[in-house]
Amino acid sequence: MLDIPKRIKLISSLLEQDTEQSLTYAALECRLTLEYLCYERFKLYFSYLSESDLKNWQPKHIIKQISDDIDDNVSKEFSISISAEKIDGRLPKTKEEFESIKYTALGTQSELKLNKLHQLWNGVSNVALHIPVPSISSGDLSIYGDKDTIRKKVNDVVSFLSGIKGNLLMGGTFREEFGFNCFACDTKIKRPVRNLQHETAVSCINPRCQESYVIQKDGNDEFEVIRRVIKFLCAGCNEDLEVPTRLFRELRFDQKININCGKCNTLSEVIMRPLMKSTKVESPHNKALQRTSR
Ligand SMILES: [Zn+2]
Ligand SMILES: [Zn+2]
Repeated sequence: MLDIPKRIKLISSLLEQDTEQSLTYAALECRLTLEYLCYERFKLYFSYLSESDLKNWQPKHIIKQISDDIDDNVSKEFSISISAEKIDGRLPKTKEEFESIKYTALGTQSELKLNKLHQLWNGVSNVALHIPVPSISSGDLSIYGDKDTIRKKVNDVVSFLSGIKGNLLMGGTFREEFGFNCFACDTKIKRPVRNLQHETAVSCINPRCQESYVIQKDGNDEFEVIRRVIKFLCAGCNEDLEVPTRLFRELRFDQKININCGKCNTLSEVIMRPLMKSTKVESPHNKALQRTSR
């Protein structure tokens, strides 16, 4: 877990030096600290969300996606306590029984105010970490931004960081989960049941694996897992050759994939090329022409 007081100390010492360079460096340290705060939480959810399923790399959006797709506790404040106490030699059952036993506090996870964090993360960057693109009216170029503006933004980040008091981070979910093992690499893939009510595409969480799946409900309200593949026919033996869909995501025009048929050993090449599909659309104009020609 990030040592926030240590980060504040470093940023404050750069503020004290009060030069254009030290303030710029302070802005960079602020931005890195804010990113770390998000990514250390993302790391705790690795077993639920593949990096390749991230819709947006920006720190705020990663946490937002975990909150939407896995568990909204990722950015919330809560405390955890544990107890091994029993009631008449058995585990407590009712809410009242759970409330009647003694607990030992483990710690508190602090809230991560995502909108504020995102605003600060952009803010320090805008005032210190880019040179504005010049225009005809913008005067001389300058390596550094305005000292007072940078100092103000850095101070905003320091006060944001000072408000984060937690001493614990928790990953995962207490909710019911559905899981299965990857067809290719046997890695466990899991999602909270609550977030699988609609058809959901998930990638294998193993970064070296290209498999992905669709999880959907079948007619009996049970989850079924469908491997996402594109099928080709082997020219040698007519066997289905299955290629994981994700392999095509990074392919460029004219790039090839070689597939070796496991049954007859024929080598096939799949080439990434545009495919044309046409549908005849009946326009009102065409219909009118047909009517007059009859
Ligand atoms: Zn896998
Ligand atoms: Zn074959």
